[in-house]
Amino acid sequence: MDAASTCFCSESDFCSDCGSVLPPPGVQDTVTCLNCGHRTQVTEFLGKYVQRSIMFNKLDTIALSDESDETGALKGPLIDRRCSRCGCEKMVYHTRQMRSADEGQTVFYTCVQCRFQEKEDS
Ligand SMILES: [Zn+2]
Ligand SMILES: [Zn+2]
Repeated sequence: MDAASTCFCSESDFCSDCGSVLPPPGVQDTVTCLNCGHRTQVTEFLGKYVQRSIMFNKLDTIALSDESDETGALKGPLIDRRCSRCGCEKMVYHTRQMRSADEGQTVFYTCVQCRFQEKEDS
């Protein structure tokens, strides 16, 4: 894939006349070189820009799937409890039995909004 590798290596497009960096394409059909006034058709750029947006989409997808994994870790009963960090009124809790039965259990609260964790011994 030559187009993709070109797109990855060069951040900007260059004037075919004088070699100076061209401004990014705007609403017009052509991009005018600021140095020599040579015009380049924007359509010559389009392939590269499409390639770039596809790559960004892939990154977004990866980021989103990571986040849904974290959300999975929040499974548990939802209760009305104010997060002391962000003030959100909803937190998820789970309990964990300590090693010795005498110590009772510890309740862990996780804010659904900022993921702040608090624990409370019962
Ligand atoms: Zn030029
Ligand atoms: Zn919070």
